[in-house]
Amino acid sequence: MNSSNDCLFCKIATGEIPSAKVYEDEDVYAFLDIGQVTKGHTLIIPKTHAKNIYETPSDIAEKLFNRVPKIASAIKETYKPIGLNILNNNEEAAGQSVFHIHIHLIPRYGKGDGFG
Ligand code: 5GP
Ligand code: ZN
Repeated sequence: MNSSNDCLFCKIATGEIPSAKVYEDEDVYAFLDIGQVTKGHTLIIPKTHAKNIYETPSDIAEKLFNRVPKIASAIKETYKPIGLNILNNNEEAAGQSVFHIHIHLIPRYGKGDGFG
């Protein structure tokens, strides 16, 4: 696994920093966002370090995005939301604050669920 010593999400992927695991396989790790905007807010990351979409090799991106439907379905099953937002922020101007590419899965529960 390629990782960056200074990267928070690399440390989460290896378990060096604890997180609430949602899903894991050989290529990706998914865990609950520490500042959940709604119940079940999950982040999916590749185990290989890449800063954002511009610096992610296509084979890594393919595996990362390929897992989205499966993890979305697991979240739907667990949290029973009535909708789901999928987001990927790239660069600070777009709201990226952790520079290891990640996909947000944000379950939605209707008006007043706290997001948007
Ligand atoms: P971004 O703003 O880069 O798109 O998303 C980064 C996300 O990482 C934020 O939603 C933030 O709450 C989450 N986050 C930051 N630090 C931690 C952490 O230590 N653990 C977990 N589980 N999530 C984190
Ligand atoms: Zn990283």
